[in-house]
Amino acid sequence: MRQITKNQVRKWTKVAGISIPASFSAWCPHCSEKVTFNTTNHTHDPKRACVSASCNCPSCSHHVSIWSLGAHGPDSAEVYIHPNTGEPHSPKEISSIIPEPLYRSYISTIDAYNSGNYVATAVCCRRTLEGLFQGLLPEGERVHNLARAISQVADTVNLSEPIGNFANVLRQGGNLGAHFDNEKEPDEEMALQMLTLLENLIDFLHVLPQEISSLEQLLDHEA
Ligand SMILES: [Zn+2]
Repeated sequence: MRQITKNQVRKWTKVAGISIPASFSAWCPHCSEKVTFNTTNHTHDPKRACVSASCNCPSCSHHVSIWSLGAHGPDSAEVYIHPNTGEPHSPKEISSIIPEPLYRSYISTIDAYNSGNYVATAVCCRRTLEGLFQGLLPEGERVHNLARAISQVADTVNLSEPIGNFANVLRQGGNLGAHFDNEKEPDEEMALQMLTLLENLIDFLHVLPQEISSLEQLLDHEA
């Protein structure tokens, strides 16, 4: 069961005083197409103060159920859909920090995944990884084999440099250091910057090593 947001609702209706979408747009959980569902067979459940309804996907005809707890109008209505809709994977906001061709390759990978073309996703992933690692190597030292390019980056690029720089910034006790010592009250911008840095460090130190090891296990399992 997943909650659907108000901006997915195209039109509201009211059954026994409870607001429920007459139509809403969502990714179909069965065929993954983005479609507009029309609700039918509304049933009022007075004990739970909700209205349930049925919809059929206009693309694949499969059935989807919805429940609305909307006794106080559309603004405060909670609407749930079952089974879960196949939400598209959305890209990270990295367009300003990586080169444009690499970003385009990354977006193509996401488009392939969202359209359910997993072979194309794997091909695009590989192409994007190649671009990513080639871009970290000096012009004359680029190799075309992906595994070799990655090893070369591991051998020649100081991947722990950002962490060393971070330690220096804190050690020097400048503005950033003071914020991390709880002595200075941070404003919203500084607080967000600190939170983002924390999340990126957790990704780098914990999430990334775990993801590499799960991918390894998955590939071992497939082999
Ligand atoms: Zn469908």
